[in-house]
Amino acid sequence: MPSYHVWTVGCQMNVADSQRLDLSLERMGLAREEKIEDADVVVVNTCVVRQSAEDTATGLLGRLGKTKLEDPERVIAVMGCMVGPDQSDLRRRFPHVDVWARPQEFQPIVETVGARTGLSIEGCLANLTPERPDVATFVPIVHGCDKFCTFCIIPYRRGREMSRPLDELVDEVTRLVGRGVKEVTLLGQNVDSYGHDLEPRADLADLMEQVHEVSGLERIRFLTSHPNDMSRRIIHAIRDLPKVCENVNLPFQAGDDRILAQMRRGYTSGQFLDRIDQIRDTIPEVTLTTDLIVGFPGETEAEFEQSVRLLERVRFDKVHSAAYSERNGTYASRRMPDTVSRDEKKRRLRTVDDLQSRIQSEINADLVGQEFDILVDGETRGRLRGRTRGDKLVYITGGGPALGDTVRIGITAASPWSLEADLRATQSQKELAKIK
Ligand code: SF4
Repeated sequence: MPSYHVWTVGCQMNVADSQRLDLSLERMGLAREEKIEDADVVVVNTCVVRQSAEDTATGLLGRLGKTKLEDPERVIAVMGCMVGPDQSDLRRRFPHVDVWARPQEFQPIVETVGARTGLSIEGCLANLTPERPDVATFVPIVHGCDKFCTFCIIPYRRGREMSRPLDELVDEVTRLVGRGVKEVTLLGQNVDSYGHDLEPRADLADLMEQVHEVSGLERIRFLTSHPNDMSRRIIHAIRDLPKVCENVNLPFQAGDDRILAQMRRGYTSGQFLDRIDQIRDTIPEVTLTTDLIVGFPGETEAEFEQSVRLLERVRFDKVHSAAYSERNGTYASRRMPDTVSRDEKKRRLRTVDDLQSRIQSEINADLVGQEFDILVDGETRGRLRGRTRGDKLVYITGGGPALGDTVRIGITAASPWSLEADLRATQSQKELAKIK
């Protein structure tokens, strides 16, 4: 039986795409191979949001070229955001790649593998709901992005927004729950724009309401929001639907209004802060995370300081910070020289990371002694791990729960990045309370 290995880098959308391609290949009769070097079919699922992710993928493709010389029968496929509409340059650089496929377009890969292995491809692309999903799993609901922020390559690679029909998504979530899933994260580059292109029109709140009805599902998350599209209806749905977790990822990207305009984000820092206040006023227990770019072309020290001020004002639970990385083909790469030096970008990143580390230490320290519902969703080095509704990572000691259980446990220790919970400590406290 031929074997396959899908290698993945990048965002949750890529992870979800890879899980669906796994299923297609298994339906054809291929067996999963853990070691990339031993697989007959290798698929490299790429990301080009930052230079470092692109370099990792191109480095791997270079190494795979050498193995192809030793084993010319091996099929090498590339998919994901590296693959744009024009692939001529990629084909020149990596002539050993057998097939190129744009994000979510599995068909060229499946057809090439079918032709090379002689396996039938019939029925292998229909209904791609993962058969062995994780307890907490991702469900792409809208592909592409219409925003065209000047630094971002995504709209050029994933295309315009295309929402999946509401019924199809509810069916998929129902099937996933039947296969053991307890939590779904509804995914989109701009998840808040879900449904504007559907007939009849719908929105994320409509979808959350319907997914909420799926019996056996415990938690609903959604990722990634845009400050301009996060409507009152969506915020109220988070508040009113018990399965929707009180956690919002709302990227601000820069704290200075000139930089925000250059990025074409479509809001000012004041408008962003108004949205934060609206969310917090409606959902007081909400946890907030964000994305931030430092060293955007022309960003002065004073403009960078505006980002720092905003972080201090909001006190996010987590920040995904990144140094500006010029992406060929974007508006910024054509019109805005990358003026901030690499060292200066690093210094700004360190400033942000140090500040966030302090803020997160303070926020998480306040959680010690409190109890939370933790959905156990995995294991790291022999220890169970799970997440609170607010998406805090918790390591659990004291045994007991199984994967997929939700347990109410007290937090015993905290770091900026995770929490510790001890089931024995919680149980003995409860025993003590009963005796009293
Ligand atoms: S909203 Fe902006 S940053 Fe996000 S995917 Fe769309 S273009 Fe890129």
